[in-house]
Amino acid sequence: MKSKDPGWAGWRFDHSYARLPVSLFTRARPVPVASPSLVVLNEKLATELGLDVGHLRGSGADLFSGNRLPSGADPIAQAYAGHQFGHFTNLGDGRAILLGEQLTPSGARFDVQLKGSGQTPYSRRGDGRASLGPMLREYIISEAMHALGIPTTRSLAVVATGEEVFREEILPGAVLTRVAASHIRVGTFEYAAAMGDRVVLEALTRHTLTRHYPELVDAENIALTLLGAVVERQADLVARWMCVGFVHGVMNTDNMALSGETIDYGPCAFLDTYDPETVFSSIDRGGRYAYGNQPDIAQWNLTRLAVALLPLIDGEQTKAVALAEEVLAKFPNEFRRKHQSGLRSKIGLLSEEEGDDELASELLDLMQSAGADFTSTFVALTKSVETGQSEVIPVLGADSSVWLTRWRERLNRQNHTREVVAAVMQRANPVIIPRNHRVEEALAAAQSGDMSVLHRLLEAVVSPYEATPANEPYRDAPPPGGAPYRTFCGT
Ligand code: AMP
Ligand code: MG
Repeated sequence: MKSKDPGWAGWRFDHSYARLPVSLFTRARPVPVASPSLVVLNEKLATELGLDVGHLRGSGADLFSGNRLPSGADPIAQAYAGHQFGHFTNLGDGRAILLGEQLTPSGARFDVQLKGSGQTPYSRRGDGRASLGPMLREYIISEAMHALGIPTTRSLAVVATGEEVFREEILPGAVLTRVAASHIRVGTFEYAAAMGDRVVLEALTRHTLTRHYPELVDAENIALTLLGAVVERQADLVARWMCVGFVHGVMNTDNMALSGETIDYGPCAFLDTYDPETVFSSIDRGGRYAYGNQPDIAQWNLTRLAVALLPLIDGEQTKAVALAEEVLAKFPNEFRRKHQSGLRSKIGLLSEEEGDDELASELLDLMQSAGADFTSTFVALTKSVETGQSEVIPVLGADSSVWLTRWRERLNRQNHTREVVAAVMQRANPVIIPRNHRVEEALAAAQSGDMSVLHRLLEAVVSPYEATPANEPYRDAPPPGGAPYRTFCGT
C-alpha cells in the first residue's frame, strides 16, 4: 500500500488528458536544475490536495524544480494554439510540464504543472525557463485572487533554481508549481480545430465537458452546449475581475481557460485610480487589453472558441454559424447582469430598483473624474454606512455630494438596517488587494534574498475582506505623484 510508504508525499495521480489523442500533447520531462531551493510552499493548498506538508518541506526543492518526479507522474507538454493580440499562432507548453492530475481527498481533480521547467518540443526559440520575480508575482496575485473569491489557478510552490536566466538582464531562475482545474484553453480548441481532425475535436470537447461541466455531458449537441457553458462562466469571471479592478493584461485566447478560471498571470495588475482605459502591460501599446475592454475581448475570444467548434455544432456550416451566434449573443447581457449585480452589492443595494444601474455608473464616472482610488472609494462608502456618518467621502472629491445624497436616499428606501447593508458591502468590497507598489517591494526584497516582505504581503492578501491592525499598511493606495505603473510579460 502506497500510504504506508514513508517516502510517499500523498500523490494520487490520474492522467485523463494523456489518454486523449496523442496529437494534443507530447511526453516530455522537466529539465533538471543546478541547485534548487524552496522559496515558498503553500501549505494550506498542499493539505487540500492531500499532500503531506512535512514531507514537502524536505522534498519540495527537488520535486517542485522537476529534479525528481513525484511518484505516479506521467509528464507531458500540452499542445495548443492561440490568437496573440489578434494573430493566430501555434504555441504549446514551451516552458511548462504537466505532471498529472492530482485526485484530492475531497474527490476533486487538479492539474499539477511546473512552469519554467525547461525546454519542450513547443519551446520555439525560448529557453523554457522563468525568473523568480514573475513566478513570485503569479504566486502572490493568484493566491490573492483566490482569497477574493475569484476563480483562478492556484500556486503551490516556487523554487529558485540556482541558475541564471538571460532576459534583458541576468535574473535568478525559478519554477512555479501551478494547480488548475485544467489547462485546457480556448487555444487548445483552436489547435484541435486547425488539425482538421473531427475525432480529436470531439474527444477534447467530451473531455472538457466531463471535467468542467459534468452535468452537461449527455447533451444532444455537446459542442454548442460547451460553448454556452463557457460563455456563462467567462461572463461571470470577467464581471468579478471588473468588480475588484483586476486587469489581466494579456487576454490572448491561449490565456483563457475553459474551466472559467483566471489563468496565466503575466503583466496583470489591479487598478489604483479608476480609469477604464488603464493598461499596465508595456507590450500592450494599442490598449487592446485595457481594463474597460475586457468584456469585449472575452467575447472576441469566445467567438474564436465558437469558430473552432463549428464543425461539431452542425454539419451544415450556415446552420452551425447561426446556432453559435445565438449562443455568443448571450454574452453581453449575461456579463452586464453579473457586473451590475456585483456593483449593486458594492454600493449596498440588496434589491433592484429602476435607476440603480445609473447610480452605479455615475459613481464610476465620478471616480474617474476625481481620479479616485477604486478600492479605497468602496471601502470609504462601506465605512460611511458602518458609522452612519453622512459626510462627504474625501476620495470622491467635492463634486460628490449630489451623488452621495441620492445614494443615501436610495439606501433609505430599502428596509434594511445599517448593519445588514454594511455586511453586504463588506463582503463585496475588499480592503486589501495586492497593491502594485507592495508587490514590487516584495519582489525586490525577494530578489535580494529577503523573503520576509513577501511573507508579510502574502499574509495580508489572503484575508482581503478583513481590516486588521496587521494589514493596515497594505490597504493604502500608493503615494501620489509616482510614475504610471508598468508591467512586463513574465517570460
Ligand atoms: P505566455 O506569454 O506565458 O502566455 O506564453 C506564451 C507562449 O510562449 C506559450 O506557448 C509559452 O509556453 C511560450 N513561452 C513563454 N516564455 C517562454 C520561454 N522562456 N521559453 C519557451 N517558451 C516560452
Ligand atoms: Mg499563456
